[in-house]
Amino acid sequence: MSNRTLAIIKPDAVRKNVIGQIIAKITESGFKVLGVKMVHLSKNSAQAFYEVHKERPFYGELVDFMISGACVPIVLEKDNAVAEFRKLIGATDPAQAEDGTIRKLFADSKAENAVHGSDSDENANNEIAHFFSKNELV
Ligand code: ADP
Ligand code: MG
Repeated sequence: MSNRTLAIIKPDAVRKNVIGQIIAKITESGFKVLGVKMVHLSKNSAQAFYEVHKERPFYGELVDFMISGACVPIVLEKDNAVAEFRKLIGATDPAQAEDGTIRKLFADSKAENAVHGSDSDENANNEIAHFFSKNELV
């Protein structure tokens, strides 16, 4: 069990101007922010980030969505960070997400679902390295 995970505030939530509300919800839930930046992903970078999904039917749509505007990757720290953050964001499809979760509050659809959260410690480490060098993290 590791204590770090990668969150991304996705382009739909950036467009809705709810970056601050989402970060408030995250920090109120006991996560510490170790790193944060705003980036507009290139197609190559988004394809690489979602490489694990490249055989899925929605891969092209997902990459196009993730490059449709800026996003905000955030490195978070908390005990059992990966599982705790997945609980806070809720189900992939906001219609299935529990009340009070970030996706229930801010997401519109299964594709445009406001936030990303790593799904394992191994992926969290790789995803953090995708966006941040060591000297960018506290
Ligand atoms: P999660 O983000 O909850 O871990 P997945 O890893 O299964 O979900 O999928 C990655 C992302 O791909 C989702 O967050 C969502 O943006 C998009 N996605 C997942 N399923 C679909 C779908 N059926 N149609 C369109 N986009 C999807
Ligand atoms: Mg996933």
